[in-house]
Amino acid sequence: MKQTIHTNNAQETWELGRTIAQEAEAGRIYSLTGDLGVGKTIFAQGFAAGLGITEPVNSPTFTIMQIYEEGRLPFYHFDVYRIGDIKEMEEIGYEDCFYGEGVCLIEWAELIEELLPEDTIRITISKDMAAGFDFRTIEIESFSRN
Ligand code: ADP
Ligand code: MG
Repeated sequence: MKQTIHTNNAQETWELGRTIAQEAEAGRIYSLTGDLGVGKTIFAQGFAAGLGITEPVNSPTFTIMQIYEEGRLPFYHFDVYRIGDIKEMEEIGYEDCFYGEGVCLIEWAELIEELLPEDTIRITISKDMAAGFDFRTIEIESFSRN
């Protein structure tokens, strides 16, 4: 199933993240793809809020992954932008996150494509400058067995 949503400002993208998190089930993985500055972290911040996390969420660029445990489900926020080798994912124990009881959200997920399970919910954010500086197109694609 593929859904396309347009947002006109950062708040709307944040709200979309929050809404999706409210429906997230344990064990789900969400991949986030899109250029630098497109709104992946804004989406992640809304997502965290939707899980009931109140502490600040920033891009875990230098640590690859940050765990937040105060919400409805454990939240594993990845930003793999600076990953040099896929082995770094093993070093941080990604499997415990991917196949655990929490929810994973992965910024720059295309860089670890081979590790993503088939049922990953794929979110792509893109800009369209012709439609305005703050306009974003957000595509959400979930795996369907039919
Ligand atoms: P990324 O994590 O993809 O690099 P960020 O979420 O850190 O991007 O930054 C996105 C920037 O774009 C923020 O400064 C935000 O205010 C701005 N922005 C403008 N319009 C939007 C929108 N519709 N959705 C998300 N962010 C937006
Ligand atoms: Mg980011």
